[in-house]
Amino acid sequence: MTLEGDLRLVAARWSSRARWTVLTGAGVSAASGIGTFRGSDGLWKNFRAEDLATPEAFARDPHRVWEWYDWRRQKIAAARPNRAHEVLASWSRRQAAFRLITQNVDGLHERAGTEHVTRFHGSIWDIRCSKRCGGSGSSWVDTRAPLPELPVRCPDCGGLARPGVVWFEEPIDPEVLRQAQEALDCDVCLVVGTSSVVYPAAALALEARQRGAWTVEINPEPGAADVDLAIVGKAEEVLPEIDSILH
Ligand code: NAD
Repeated sequence: MTLEGDLRLVAARWSSRARWTVLTGAGVSAASGIGTFRGSDGLWKNFRAEDLATPEAFARDPHRVWEWYDWRRQKIAAARPNRAHEVLASWSRRQAAFRLITQNVDGLHERAGTEHVTRFHGSIWDIRCSKRCGGSGSSWVDTRAPLPELPVRCPDCGGLARPGVVWFEEPIDPEVLRQAQEALDCDVCLVVGTSSVVYPAAALALEARQRGAWTVEINPEPGAADVDLAIVGKAEEVLPEIDSILH
């Protein structure tokens, strides 16, 4: 099958009433200039994940962890959603049962106007008290970049605050897991721009497939996800091409 043929196969499954669930990872934001974790341009090339994105790293050196997050927040604040985010946003408004589960913490899907987004790993714009003192609620949003003072402190108890993201070794919020599980009952499941190695997110596509969904991966380096169709290409090129077949 040619690439054109594959794109037509996907487009043929599109209808306003079809239940589409899209799982996205860092690759969908690559064209916005936000580095992925793995791959040739991987964020972790110069940093070790275990030095920066674990509870232990934060306990050891909160200032260093906050510096890294502040740097990423500045990069993301300067970035704009790309064509991949825009196409997914338009589908989310045109399909009644569209769901998007993202591992990304950058908020670019929401900035593009996507509806029904489940943020599997939290948001880089959320901050919460590391002691869960309960004063400001479970978390608060702060979009300033750079942040005026590092490490960030809880406005209520003065203790250390932390980024509202899910770190390695931490569990997924049960309500988020419930939403994601619900979204796996779908007709088509697109897996876009993820290396599918970080669990439990990596298991979602397989679960959707086992429940009967037709699964499609879009990635310039495919192979990690166990899917029905693998399209080798960049999200910001492949998704607009599928979209153009629909018009
Ligand atoms: P990853 O870095 O492990 O994998 C990125 C994947 O994207 C790779 O398979 C790569 O081949 C693919 N890719 C690269 N360019 C692409 C493009 N233009 N179009 C489509 N695919 C492309 O990222 P992941 O699988 O999301 O890893 C999971 C963890 O990384 C999550 O915890 C997530 O929170 C975190 N993360 C998030 C961001 C972000 O918010 N933008 C950035 C880096 C990492």
